[in-house]
Order: sequence, then C-alpha cells, then structure tokens
Amino acid sequence: MPKLKVVTFGCQANELDSARIVGLLARDGYTLTDDESEADLIILNGCSIRDKAEQKLYSRLGTLRALKARRPNLRLGVAGCLGQREGETLRRRFPYLDLVVGNGEHLVEIPRLLSAAAVRLSSAAIPPTGFFPADVEVHRDSRYRAWVGVMEGCDNFCTFCVVPHTRGRERSRPPDEILGEVAALRDRGYREITLLGQTVNSYGLKLEPPVSFAALLRRIDRVVGPYVRVRFATSHPKDVTAELAEAMASLPSVCPHMHLPIQSGSSRTLARMGRTYSREEYLDKVQLLRAAVPDLSLTTDIIVGFPGESDKGFEETLSLMREVGFDAAFAFKFSPRRGTPAADFPDQVPDSVRAERLAAVLSLQDELSLRKNGKWIGRRVEVLVDCELSKRGSGLAGGRTRQNKIVHFTGGEVEEGTLANVQITGGTSHHLKGVLIPSL
Ligand code: SF4
Repeated sequence: MPKLKVVTFGCQANELDSARIVGLLARDGYTLTDDESEADLIILNGCSIRDKAEQKLYSRLGTLRALKARRPNLRLGVAGCLGQREGETLRRRFPYLDLVVGNGEHLVEIPRLLSAAAVRLSSAAIPPTGFFPADVEVHRDSRYRAWVGVMEGCDNFCTFCVVPHTRGRERSRPPDEILGEVAALRDRGYREITLLGQTVNSYGLKLEPPVSFAALLRRIDRVVGPYVRVRFATSHPKDVTAELAEAMASLPSVCPHMHLPIQSGSSRTLARMGRTYSREEYLDKVQLLRAAVPDLSLTTDIIVGFPGESDKGFEETLSLMREVGFDAAFAFKFSPRRGTPAADFPDQVPDSVRAERLAAVLSLQDELSLRKNGKWIGRRVEVLVDCELSKRGSGLAGGRTRQNKIVHFTGGEVEEGTLANVQITGGTSHHLKGVLIPSL
C-alpha cells in the first residue's frame, strides 16, 4: 500500500482541503503516515494569503529536496491556494516537483496527474467554478469534531486579499447535500460540526431559489437537534442580519460564538480595504448580535499597517477593540500580495511601524481577553472534551465551551468527545481554568 503524508499550511479551508486529498487518495489505496522517511508521496497543501506562509512552504520544499535525492521514488507535490496562484512559478523554481495542483474542486485532478507518464500538469490555470464532489469521503481525524464545507470562494475582492483569485467566485453547495452530510455525521456520533466558507454567512444568496444562511442553520438544527454543536466560520459583517441574530438566539444547536473580522477600526482605512462597511456599521452589527445573544463570544481579525494607515487611523483600531471588547483577535502586519490593488498603493507603512502597531494590538488584546475570561469565574460551563487540549502530563483535561473558550480542568478523567460540566475557577488571557462537576 503506498503511503501518503499531507502537510497543511494555512486556514481551516486548507485543513478541509487536506482532508479531501486524503479521502480522495484513499480510493487509490494510499494510507496515511506521519513519517516522511516512509512516505511514497508527500503533498504540501499551501497557503498564499501572507508572504510568511509561502516562505515556510518554500523552505520545507528545500528540505524535502534532500530526502528526494536519497529516495528518487518519493513523489512531491504542492496543492492548495499556493498551487492555484503560483502553479507555473512553482514548477519552474522547484523542477523536482512531481505534482502542482490548485485547491477545492481542482483536487480531484490529483489521481490523474499522479498517473501521468511524464511531467505532471498543473491545473492552476483553470478558473475555479464548481464544488468538490460530494461522493468523495472526506478523511476525518476526529471522531467527534468535523468540518463541513458549505460554500467556496468570495465575491468581495477586498483590496489586500488573494482569496477571490485563488478560490474563485462565491458559490454555495445545495442545502440537501449539506443536510445529508450533517445527518451522516450525527449518525456516526459527531458532537460538533463547523460549517466552513470564506464568507459563510453569505451562503446561498446566489442559489436558485436563494436560501439564507439563517434558513440553512434552521434546517441543520432540525437534523441534529440539541445534541450536536453547530459552529460556523468565517462571517462577513455585511451579511450579519437580524434573521441570523434571531437564528443564533433561538436554535439550541447553534453555538454563541462568531468570528467577525473587523480588519481596521478606521472607516477611512476600511473604505480603502474595500470592506463595504464603516466602523459605525460594524458596531451596529455587534449591537444587533449582542442584543439577541447576550453570552455571545466575539472574535476578530485585524490588519495593522495597511497602506495609508495614519497614527490616528491606528488609534481608531485600538479604540474600537476597547469599545467591542473582543474575546480574542488574530492580528497581522499588512503583507502586500502581488496582483492585489493594495500591494501597489503608494503609501506603504514601514515595517518597523507595522511591527510596533502589531505589538500594541497584541498587548491590548491580551488585557481584553484576560478581562473577558475573568467574567466566567464562578460560572458553570459545558465543555466538549478534546484530547488535543488536554495536558496529560500535568493531569489537566481540556476542551472548549459553547463560546469556543478553551478550558483546562482538574477533577477526574473524562473521555474525549464527551460533554463535561465544569465550574470555572480562574482564567488567563488564553484559557479558562476549572474543576469538573461530577455527574450524578
Ligand atoms: S471577504 Fe474575506 S475572503 Fe473575501 S476578499 Fe475580503 S478578506 Fe478575502
């Protein structure tokens, strides 16, 4: 049996694509290995959103070249957004690659490309239009947590972002196909399902007839009942609606957490980013959600040092962070991406300023997260026990609350994938601490 190793760089969409690659190649007899030295095929599933992610993959390819020199039968491939965007460049720069392929539905090309006699063709030039076929079983590492892709691509063309160029235009899976996958996961005992899309809450607007994301959540809730947690990522502020807030408030399966990227607290910068909302409109959406879901946890993405971001504009980001009080934030220095308008904006911010601003955002978020987590002390929470979050050596079990907060707790062994009640006794900016409440 040939052995396969897939290394993932990037976001949850790339993780899902890796799971699709494994499922696809399992049909050709490949089994997974963690050990590079025994792999027959290594695929690096690469991210193109930031320069740093690309450089990491290139450096890994350099290391793998030496392995391939020792084992000429080893085949090496690059897939994902990087393969989609940089296919030809990759083939020129790394001539020892056996396979270069794009992301999403392009992955179905892999078996054909691997069986080609000579140079493996890249499918990077094909514009993405469809969806990964539903009949390919997605490989799932976890027995209780699963990602379900519901839409692909993006129509928003933010001026800094390559996603519309790498994942194509926005398209949604038919609801019945999604419901079938969700029902199968429920029947296999899965406890948590995360619906994935680049702007997941824009789901279904282009379907015929249109289906709102809230309507999809209602249909999923009827399938899974209160026994399965339903999460979703990533949401776009423009498609946060009263209907969605109401669905989150009323559907027992839907978790009270939203990842809602703000990117900047300055309306001027937001306009230059092409984000289609202002600071005030974002704050209105937050108010709408919090009025409906009082225990909502809200996380965000922030870019610092976007071209033309003044000191005042940056201060507005800090003040918005304080005003919203995010539970967590993923902050990044602006990274110019070739082919996007922002890469050619004339007023680039020096890297030293970007670095200072990043440090300020991270430090403020640390304070805010600590304060937010402190509010949970004394409360009882439901935790889905997750072995990846457990600290076995120190006797701490781990898991996540419905708000997606990490909890480490003492008080006994609990099987992973089960729900535990935990009394919260403390917290850091990163996680909550607690004690297991024994079940009666
Ligand atoms: S909405 Fe998100 S995925 Fe789409 S272009 Fe903007 S940043 Fe990229």
